[in-house]
Amino acid sequence: QEAALRQSEKLAATGRLAATIAHEINNPLEAVTNLVYLCKTDPTIPTSVQRLLETADNELARVSQIAQQTLGFYRDTTRPASIDLAELLHGVVDLFSRKMMSKRLQCTVKVDGDLRIFGLQGEIKQVFSNLLVNAIEASEVDTTIQIRGRIAQRSGINGVSVLMSDCGHGIPPEVQTRLFSPFFTTKQSLGTGLGLWVTRGIVEKQGGAIGFRTKTDPPTGTIFRVFLPAQIREVDAFGAPGSTFIQ
Ligand code: ADP
Ligand code: MG
Repeated sequence: QEAALRQSEKLAATGRLAATIAHEINNPLEAVTNLVYLCKTDPTIPTSVQRLLETADNELARVSQIAQQTLGFYRDTTRPASIDLAELLHGVVDLFSRKMMSKRLQCTVKVDGDLRIFGLQGEIKQVFSNLLVNAIEASEVDTTIQIRGRIAQRSGINGVSVLMSDCGHGIPPEVQTRLFSPFFTTKQSLGTGLGLWVTRGIVEKQGGAIGFRTKTDPPTGTIFRVFLPAQIREVDAFGAPGSTFIQ
């Protein structure tokens, strides 16, 4: 128990460090992206050079994806607050509506009552964004992703559970054991392998848990389940154990 706690604190501290770096990278990255854009659209620059700039632009977009999509919300400087779970989940779904439209995916969100959780809005957003992105990427076209929030209890602790299920290709056994490791991806250059690692770091830091169920034979999809306690043990900005916040 003690060791597990120390491990999750270490994970959280690493996650924060990564997020801080991502944040610091963002400003110069934006500046370079703008410069490349200016050159690309400059008619006096020959087409051969513009083609090179196109490549530069694509690579910049990739760095930006790593910095923002995976870690962008993580560095949340606000205080932990009471969060409306349904509102947060709908907000996350809206962020990725274009990505879903391109695969003609439907997404349903169903949350019991008016469930609230206590935590950092940015971090919780990060958790469900990362899961939703994975669900979208795994989904077959024309299928539905279901998100379901309800009251839950885990080892006698009150909280909420959120289930996210997709009708995708499922997770093969050899992938299942490495899913949460940093930089593990089956998406080659399109993946970062940071999504689930960051997600688990956030969830465990808050005293929650994450798990999944999947079927590959036949492929009928995957369900990720996140449990978050209503009352969380916070870790301060430097990764040291802090005080307990009560809802
Ligand atoms: P990335 O998405 O960048 O590859 P993640 O940490 O988010 O990194 O996920 C790691 C791996 O877990 C993915 O490459 C994929 O193989 C697998 N995975 C995650 N979510 C799902 C899902 N819903 N369905 C199928 N495979 C998944
Ligand atoms: Mg991912």
